[in-house]
Amino acid sequence: MEKELTNKEIEAIKESLLARKAELMADMTEKSRVNPNESDNLSSKFPEYGDKPDENAQEIMDYSTDLATEQILEKVLLEIDDALKRIDNGNYGICRYCKNPIGAKRLMARPTASSCISCKTELQENE
Ligand SMILES: [Zn+2]
Repeated sequence: MEKELTNKEIEAIKESLLARKAELMADMTEKSRVNPNESDNLSSKFPEYGDKPDENAQEIMDYSTDLATEQILEKVLLEIDDALKRIDNGNYGICRYCKNPIGAKRLMARPTASSCISCKTELQENE
């Protein structure tokens, strides 16, 4: 049985989601510097990424078009808003399909997850 999140941990996740949201909003205006698909693991996957906007912009150009990046940013923002809504409603961390707890480990890795791993695998939902 997977460990469930405590209220304190959910509170911490809310904080980080809000911070992430603010970051994404800034990124959307200044032409995104990270690919949100990879941003969860960005620091470990791309430790060589520079802090200078120019360097990052160049990396993104190599990676995807501006349009695709913007669409991904919008999707991630929606996911974050959705997660924040679930926190406020008190049903955060509950799978929306089977209503079982999603599990702390998965939520820590992916705070915007709204389905448990088994439902997600079954539905082949795109993330
Ligand atoms: Zn489920």
